[in-house]
Amino acid sequence: MSHFGRTLQRFDRDPTGRRWIYAPYDQLSSDMGRLSREPPSTLGLILVENPWKADRRPYHRQKLALILANGRHFALEQARRGVAVRVAVADGPYRTALEPLIGELGPIEVMRPAERELRADLQPLIDNGGLIEVAHEGWLSEPRDFDASQKSTPPWRMDAFYRRMRRRTGLLMDAGKPIGGKYSFDADNRQPWPGEPAAPTPPVFEPDPITREVADLIEQRFAHHPGVIDLDSLPATAADAERLWSWACERCLPLFGPYEDAMSIRSRGLFHTRIAGLLNIHRLLPARVVAEVAAMDLPIASQEGFIRQVLGWREFVHHVHERTEGFRSLSGPPPPTIADRPGDAGWGVWTGKSWPRSATTHEPDGGASPSLLGADRPLPEGFWPNRPTGLACLDRVVDDVWAEAWSHHITRLMVLCNLATLLEVEPRQLTDWFWVAFLDAYDWVVEPNVLAMGSFAVGPLMTTKPYVSGAAYLNRMSDYCSTCAFRPTADCPITNLYWAFLDRHREILADNHRMRLVLSSLRTRSAEKLEQDRAVFGWVSHTLAAGDRLRPSDRPEATCSTP
Ligand SMILES: Cc1cc2nc3c(=O)[nH]c(=O)nc-3n(C[C@H](O)[C@H](O)[C@H](O)COP(=O)(O)OP(=O)(O)OC[C@H]3O[C@@H](n4cnc5c(N)ncnc54)[C@H](O)[C@@H]3O)c2cc1C
Repeated sequence: MSHFGRTLQRFDRDPTGRRWIYAPYDQLSSDMGRLSREPPSTLGLILVENPWKADRRPYHRQKLALILANGRHFALEQARRGVAVRVAVADGPYRTALEPLIGELGPIEVMRPAERELRADLQPLIDNGGLIEVAHEGWLSEPRDFDASQKSTPPWRMDAFYRRMRRRTGLLMDAGKPIGGKYSFDADNRQPWPGEPAAPTPPVFEPDPITREVADLIEQRFAHHPGVIDLDSLPATAADAERLWSWACERCLPLFGPYEDAMSIRSRGLFHTRIAGLLNIHRLLPARVVAEVAAMDLPIASQEGFIRQVLGWREFVHHVHERTEGFRSLSGPPPPTIADRPGDAGWGVWTGKSWPRSATTHEPDGGASPSLLGADRPLPEGFWPNRPTGLACLDRVVDDVWAEAWSHHITRLMVLCNLATLLEVEPRQLTDWFWVAFLDAYDWVVEPNVLAMGSFAVGPLMTTKPYVSGAAYLNRMSDYCSTCAFRPTADCPITNLYWAFLDRHREILADNHRMRLVLSSLRTRSAEKLEQDRAVFGWVSHTLAAGDRLRPSDRPEATCSTP
C-alpha cells in the first residue's frame, strides 16, 4: 500500500449515516458547498484518481502532479477534520468508479463540474438519479448575469458582462459609481518592462512525502508524458496555496497593472500571480481573491486590472463555453466538425509513438474544430521541447512552457497564438497543444481562449478582432528581439507573416471596423512587398514544418519594412 493510502487509513471513519459528496478535480475546497457549512462528522467525501483520464492526452507531467498531489492533500486535510474519505481509482470513465460507490452508499451529490468533458462522462449517472447535481459554488456569476448583459445570440462582449458584475457585487464601486471614475484601466496596463523594478522570484515549496510519492508515481506510471516535474514550484498543500497567494499579494499585485502586457527574457512571469492552476481546482477561491484585492491598498490600475481578469474574463469565458457547448452549437454556417477523440496536438507524430496509448473508449469526444479563416496546417515541431525555430520570442516562450507548464497571458496570446495563427495552424490542434502543455488548462477555459481569442477560429463571437501582430509590437513590448538572429526593423519574418496574413484574409476581415486601419495600410503596400511577404510565409512554413531552424541568410529576400 502507498504511503498516502496508509496515512489516509489512520483516519478510518464510520461511513454510516453520512451524506456523501463527490469532489471532482476542480472542487478541492472545503470553503464552498456542504463542506463549508455542515459538520465534518456528517459528511463523506469521494475523490477519484483516474489514469484513463490522464492518458486521454499527453498532459504535461507537472499538471498531473499538481492535480494528484492537491487531490491527495485535500483528502488528508478533510480526513483530519473528521470527514469520512474514500479515494476510488478508475481506469475508464469516472462513472465506472462512482457506480459501485452509489450502489454501496446511495445517491451521491456533486457540484456541477467545470469541465464539460467530465459532465458528459457523468451524465448517465445524473440521468438515473445515482448522482445528484447541484450548482457549483466556486463561480462568481450565474447564467442570468450573462443573459442580462448580452444579446441572446453572439457577438458577446466581456466589458458589458464585467460592468454588470462590478455593479452586482459592489466590488470597486462607491455609491453606484466605479472607483477611479471608470470601469476599466486597460489603457494603463500596457507598459513594456525596462528591467526595473525587479520582478519577484516565485516561492519555492518544500515537498512532503505525499508529494514526493506522487512525483515518483508519475515518473513510473506516466513517464511517456511530456514535460518535467519541478516540485520546488508545485504548490501541493493548503498551506502552499496560502503561501503562493501571500506572495502574489505582496510581490506581484502592486505592479501587476502597468506591466500586465509586458514580456521579457529576464523574467518568465514578471508580475503575474501564477494562481490560475490553483483557482481552477479551487485550492484558492475566486471569491476570496477578488474580495481581498478589492480591500488592498493598491494603485487602481493594478487593483482593477486583476479584478477584471478574475471577475470579468474568467467568468465570461466560462459562460461562453457553457452557452455554446464548447463551440459545438455555433449557429454556423457551417457548423464546426467535432473531433471523435481527444487530439494529441501532433505529439504522436513528433515522437513517433501513437497516442492515445490505451485502446479503451475515447468518449467523450475531442471537441469542436471551428476554423473561420480556414487554417488547417499542423503545428510546427518548434512548439515541442528542444526544437528551436530560430525565432527568439517563440523559442524562449516554448522553453518556458515546457519548463513550467505555464507562461503568462501575453506570451500565450501574442507569441504562441500569434505565430500559430500567422502560420495558419489548425485551431483545434493549437487548442489541444495548450491543453496538453499548460497546467491550468481545462476545456471551459482553454477552448474559449484559444479558439475564440487566440486564433479567431469562431470570428468575432467574443473578441472584436484577430490578435495578430508583426515584429514591431513584439519589439515594443518585449526584449526577446535583442537575442534574436533576426532584426525586428529589418529582416524579422514575423512582419512578413503578418502582412501575408492580412493579405490572405482581407476579404473576410473587411467588415471588421477594428481592422479598418491596418487594412487601409495593406492597400498601400506594394505588389512587390506583398510578393515578398508570400515568399517569406512559404519559406517559414516549409522550414518549420520540416523541423528546421530559420536563419537570416536563408530568407527569400534580405529586407522588409515594419508595420
Ligand atoms: C491562448 C490563451 C490560452 C489560455 N489558456 C488558459 C487556460 O488553459 N487556463 C487558464 O486558467 N487560463 C488561460 N488563459 C488565460 C490566462 O492567460 C491565464 O489564466 C493566466 O496567464 C494564468 O496566469 P496567472 O495566474 O499568473 O494570471 P494573472 O495574469 O495573474 O491573472 C489573474 C487571473 O485572472 C484569470 N484570467 C486572466 N485572463 C483570463 C482569461 N482570458 N481567461 C480566463 N481566466 C483569465 C486567471 O484565473 C488568472 O489566474 C489563456 C489565455 C490565452 C490568451
